[in-house]
Amino acid sequence: MNEIALLHPGPCEEALLAFLEACGLSPAVKRGFADGEDSVIFYMDEASWKAFQGKLREGLDRICGIFGQSPPEISARPLDSVQWQEAWKRYAKIYRFGKDLIVKPSWRVLRTQPTCPVISLDPRMAFGTGGHASTRLCLRHLLQIRKVAPDQFCDVLDVGTGSGILAIAAARLGAERVVAVDIDRDALTVAEENARRNGVAELIEFQPGSLAGIHDRFDLILANINESVLTELFPEFARRLRSTGILVVSGILRKQGQAFLKKAVRAGLERRSTRVEKEWVSYSLILGKRTP
Ligand code: SAH
Repeated sequence: MNEIALLHPGPCEEALLAFLEACGLSPAVKRGFADGEDSVIFYMDEASWKAFQGKLREGLDRICGIFGQSPPEISARPLDSVQWQEAWKRYAKIYRFGKDLIVKPSWRVLRTQPTCPVISLDPRMAFGTGGHASTRLCLRHLLQIRKVAPDQFCDVLDVGTGSGILAIAAARLGAERVVAVDIDRDALTVAEENARRNGVAELIEFQPGSLAGIHDRFDLILANINESVLTELFPEFARRLRSTGILVVSGILRKQGQAFLKKAVRAGLERRSTRVEKEWVSYSLILGKRTP
């Protein structure tokens, strides 16, 4: 993992943060002690950083041009896993979903007494902090489904649970039984710890692997992975949905949306609703009237 710092952003700071967020990153401002020592920082693995440098330089030129400023100096330093976790912990944020749900890092304390469920997570190296738009989109679908279709909260399947965030949210929001799978066994260990931390370990069954080991049908399936894995899994999802079931998929780029939906229809699924954040899109899908 690399820590990338844009040094002394000056008046461009807000615009740079907005640009980086629009690129799907979770930037933070590191305040220096003296004037002008501030920097905007974000984290990226080596391959993504290599691919992103051109787009970053272009963005910096454009934004700083508007402000009549020269672009900030870029500094990138590789972090080992211990440094990465420490850095990440320092900047991890609390996410609020209206008045309905709070997701916070386990080491952060809320200043006021919450009136809604709070999920407390330590994702360690697993994905799923609430920091990524694709996770937040799933959580918003979940909250909406609970409001308009509370019956959909009986049996829930979370495919690619990562830190366990979606499974835990489903359980905290009233699901009777949750099954969560991930092909990454380390993620499952983290997810189980998080489930215990949130008092819902009894409600969630964690299973290594993907859908092959799942034979039941569910009222609600959540899957925040990526476009290609999701489309491959379409027929398997369809077989595990109850006739009135809802499938929430996320991790899809907006530009992939139309093609993705066409493939969904071919697999017998149709769109029920759409949510968008930054360049990400997430859909809730139901079984179509026509089976393919
Ligand atoms: N659900 C979390 C984590 C999403 S990251 C959130 O919404 O934030 C995606 C996760 O899917 C990773 O942990 C990855 O290991 C897992 N994954 C990838 N392909 C998978 C597959 N085919 N079946 C099950 N899990 C998969």
